[in-house]
Amino acid sequence: MRRVTVVGSGVIGLSIAHEFAAAGDEVTVVADADVAHSVSTVAAAVWFPYLGEVSPRVTGWLTRSLARYRAVALDDSAGVDLRLGTVIERTAHPDRSWMPVVAGAREADVLPAGALSGVRATVPVITTGVYGEWLTARCRGLGVRFEVRAVASVDEFAGGADLVVVAGGLRSGALLGDDDSVVPVRGQVVRLENPGLTEWFIDDDNPDGLTYVVPRRDDIVCGGVSELGATSLEVDPATERAILERATALVPELAGLRIVSRGVGLRPARPTVRLERVDGRAVPVIACYGHGGSGVTLSWGCAEAVVELASAV
Ligand SMILES: Cc1cc2nc3c(=O)[nH]c(=O)nc-3n(C[C@H](O)[C@H](O)[C@H](O)COP(=O)(O)OP(=O)(O)OC[C@H]3O[C@@H](n4cnc5c(N)ncnc54)[C@H](O)[C@@H]3O)c2cc1C
Repeated sequence: MRRVTVVGSGVIGLSIAHEFAAAGDEVTVVADADVAHSVSTVAAAVWFPYLGEVSPRVTGWLTRSLARYRAVALDDSAGVDLRLGTVIERTAHPDRSWMPVVAGAREADVLPAGALSGVRATVPVITTGVYGEWLTARCRGLGVRFEVRAVASVDEFAGGADLVVVAGGLRSGALLGDDDSVVPVRGQVVRLENPGLTEWFIDDDNPDGLTYVVPRRDDIVCGGVSELGATSLEVDPATERAILERATALVPELAGLRIVSRGVGLRPARPTVRLERVDGRAVPVIACYGHGGSGVTLSWGCAEAVVELASAV
């Protein structure tokens, strides 16, 4: 049994903690905010790669994550539902690297004006508030302990842990002090009451701006924006009006629905996900961060990969 400390209780940290604990390790999660107050809870969240690396290893993580989410969806209390929706494509060569991963994904035959092509697929839709609570409870059930505090250096854990995993999202590079390539990409969403819609739409290349509509169990998430380097966590009313306009143009049934909540989050973007050993510390360290707009999507696959890497530490 190893003593593993995971820094971060977003979807990445919790998934990693879950996997180590399930393997029989003694796990402590240290974070200065719980999952309900993390970027992970602001996420829409639909299983789909956005704003991140396209590579064979990512395809592997997508495949593994999808299989895990399908299994999790069998437990109704997890807040994960398999739902049909459409990815709208407006460029001549859209990235379809994710498509072979999803059984049954097919060409869309009904498209909005201006779209060149599209894909219909059934993928997990994650009601993040419910899922975060479920995942935390699963971790606790496996014996994971939680500490609420800020971590200034991974060296703090020397002597008290056999392995530290840094899963601190946007602040991971600063915590490790050797990586300034993580940048915030601001997102904003407005959530509407859901009268019973289930079908999601992703329209990343909408000429009027990034647009998505994700009906979840308790609301419909409408987005969005993708503002590189912006750090304001305030809801911008003009952005919200524009999001609602685009979303309603895409899904006319949204017109007149009551706004139930709003959210802003900073995606932890990096040219590539950092999932590797970090040498030269007072304790063995593995980094796992920089998932951009795909952290929920990649979480289980990355968590499995971290546990595999740990067996070589
Ligand atoms: C509007 C919006 C929509 C999105 N939609 C989707 C989607 O549909 N699908 C999808 O897959 N992804 C989506 N994302 C992206 C997704 O939210 C992120 O990729 C994901 O949440 C990153 O998870 P994380 O655990 O790495 O980081 P976070 O959720 O930010 O968690 C980081 C954790 O680390 C802790 N921490 C950091 N530094 C320290 C420190 N020094 N000391 C102590 N604790 C520390 C924090 O307290 C927190 O607990 C969306 C994001 C936004 C903003």
